[in-house]
Amino acid sequence: MLLEPSYSPWLILLACVIACAAAYAGLEMAERARRCQRPGTRNLWCWMGALSLSGGIWSAYFIVMLAYQTQVAIRHDLPTTLAALLCGFVPALLTLHLLVRKPRSLRLCAQVALCFGLAIVAMRYGGMSAMRSGASSYWQPWLLMLSVALPVACAFAAFLLELRSAERHAQRQGAVALLLGLAITLAHVAGLAALTLAVPMGTALLTQSAADGGQLALLVGCVTLLSLGIGLWAAWGDRAQEHKVREQLQVSTLISQLDLARASLQQVAQFDSLTELLNRQGLDEALGEKIQAHRQQGTPLAVMFLDIDHFKRINDSLGHAAGDEMLRVLAERINGVLRDKDVIARFGGDEFCVVASLIDNEEARHLAQRLLLRIKEPVVLDGRSIVMTSSIGISLFPKDGESCEELIKHADLALYQSKGSGRNNAQFFSTPLKTKASFELQLEEELRNALQQDRGLLLHYQPILDLDSGQVSKLEALVRWQHPQHGLLSPERFIGIAEANGFIAELDAWVLHRACRDLRLLAETGYPQLRVAVNCSALNLGRTDLPQEVRDALASSGVAAQRLELEVTENALMGNINLAADLLQQMRELGVSLSIDDFGTGYSSLAYLKRLPLDTLKIDRSFIQDVPTSRQDMEIIQAVIGMAHTLHLKVVAEGVETPQQLAFLREHGCDYLQGYLLSQPLPLLQLLEFLHQQPTSGEPLPRLSNCR
Ligand code: C2E
Ligand code: CA
Ligand code: CA
Repeated sequence: MLLEPSYSPWLILLACVIACAAAYAGLEMAERARRCQRPGTRNLWCWMGALSLSGGIWSAYFIVMLAYQTQVAIRHDLPTTLAALLCGFVPALLTLHLLVRKPRSLRLCAQVALCFGLAIVAMRYGGMSAMRSGASSYWQPWLLMLSVALPVACAFAAFLLELRSAERHAQRQGAVALLLGLAITLAHVAGLAALTLAVPMGTALLTQSAADGGQLALLVGCVTLLSLGIGLWAAWGDRAQEHKVREQLQVSTLISQLDLARASLQQVAQFDSLTELLNRQGLDEALGEKIQAHRQQGTPLAVMFLDIDHFKRINDSLGHAAGDEMLRVLAERINGVLRDKDVIARFGGDEFCVVASLIDNEEARHLAQRLLLRIKEPVVLDGRSIVMTSSIGISLFPKDGESCEELIKHADLALYQSKGSGRNNAQFFSTPLKTKASFELQLEEELRNALQQDRGLLLHYQPILDLDSGQVSKLEALVRWQHPQHGLLSPERFIGIAEANGFIAELDAWVLHRACRDLRLLAETGYPQLRVAVNCSALNLGRTDLPQEVRDALASSGVAAQRLELEVTENALMGNINLAADLLQQMRELGVSLSIDDFGTGYSSLAYLKRLPLDTLKIDRSFIQDVPTSRQDMEIIQAVIGMAHTLHLKVVAEGVETPQQLAFLREHGCDYLQGYLLSQPLPLLQLLEFLHQQPTSGEPLPRLSNCR
């Protein structure tokens, strides 16, 4: 008699849930094992995964069996059941090991699917062979085959999904677990469906309710889910831990990257890119450390400021690339003279700073001498051999100062002094220097105020005689400062201060306006033909607004441009010849005349000056003063007059003090005369008196008549 079984769908569903949970736990543990570095822990995860998987398969099988209700009593033989569990565990462990390698190819997918199927089949048919009942079993072959093929196919599909899916890890793992859970449940259900039980006719059949089986199934299900839950909890804990470790690793990598970035920023911030020496900031730090060390040792330290003399000329004549090359060469030379314990920095431009550890103060002098000599050796640049010199200012720790700022400031003052005493030498800081500097500082402030409040500054005019007509035809405006304490100060005392502190433009503008205003006054008093020459500082030749300044001064005084002359020194012109040429051209277009001052003291040649739109050349007083004793000076004066005339320039002789000088100049065709022989520079009122005493056109001046 064939028995007719029935199934509890709820228990089948429970079996399915447990199978899915077991698959999920197995996958999660495979993932843990995969991420493990240590083989011991990896194996542990594999074992735990295999236990979860096989435990899940077994309890799903057990619940499916409980869902199967038939009319005969069925019990299970324990040793066979345990053997079946073991048989299932081995392929499950194999599955886990394969999963740890991650199914990357179809072949591997097929292998894992087969192992997984084997675990199910082993468990299920091992388990069924432990079944003991009074009925005989008959199997339907095709359903039997299906119960083997179905889980393998399902598992293959699941691992294929794992291989191909682009979904995020968590979703993919969920989907794979679901498919594997289905595979397990289907295998068990199909396996049962393949079985037909038969009992001899007349056997007493049971009519037992499903309640007992249901309770047991729930118990097994809960226990299984609980143990899976514990396993998963451990896996998730491990995952969180790994996450934390990874985050910590990322943070420490980030920190080390930041450190690297900070170090390279520091390199940029503390080093000069051209010479790779320390820069100002870097030196401050190094000097601070040195001071501290030397304070403890009680030994002196020298701070040396080193400035390359006339470096600007290299840039102007050979270009900036050559200038940079020169700086690199000089930096190397300085470095070569120093010892390892000394520090060198470049402060931008052509200024270097050296911090040298000393045994005694005298050592600083020797080091400075060595530096001066080494720098003076010729440098070959652009195929030319060039000799550079340098000026050095030295301050000593602790004698001249105990702090960075003090030492640097005092070395700078000493450098200023060294430049002032003819360059190419080294000077030590001294207290009188400091007194002078603070005096200078006060003078600077007072000069600024005098200029702003138009109080104390005044102009003196020195007449210039036209030797051809015998008339005073020009005046040179020379600035003075009536100081409340120091009396009348000459421009040589304060022009440098205005230049060094950036207000020479204002000072020269004041002179320009005042000179134009006075010229207007002179014109109204009866001297409409007089012209005035105004000095223009070298620094103002770099200002593009100079032409506008001149235009304003002329416009506000109503003086014609033809009556104004600008005097510029030749060194000012050589500084930046292109810019100067452009500015002078603009002045010339306005109608203003241009003269070159202090000629002969600079480095220019007449041929060079030919390029500039000049009208007059003033021979410097230093050439005139030794006439007629110095033959050489007299020859130079003759040559200059000759060449100037060839270039259609008029010639003014400055500082003429004796009739002999006048006679010599007249004889050689000089055009104008300026000097104490004619008159000292005079305030406006005295100048008017002087002009009144002048003979009318054609008559010689009484004082000069014997020289005609
Ligand atoms: P500089 O342009 O060469 O002016 C001529 C200087 O020689 C004047 O000195 C003048 O007083 C002096 N001098 C004239 N004749 C004789 C003489 O026969 N013997 C002697 N021993 N000296 C004579 P000062 O007025 O002291 O001016 C000195 C320098 O100051 C000027 O030299 C000029 O470069 C500058 N300077 C004067 N006024 C101004 C100004 O308004 N602006 C600018 N930037 N510089 C000025
Ligand atoms: Ca002058
Ligand atoms: Ca001069």
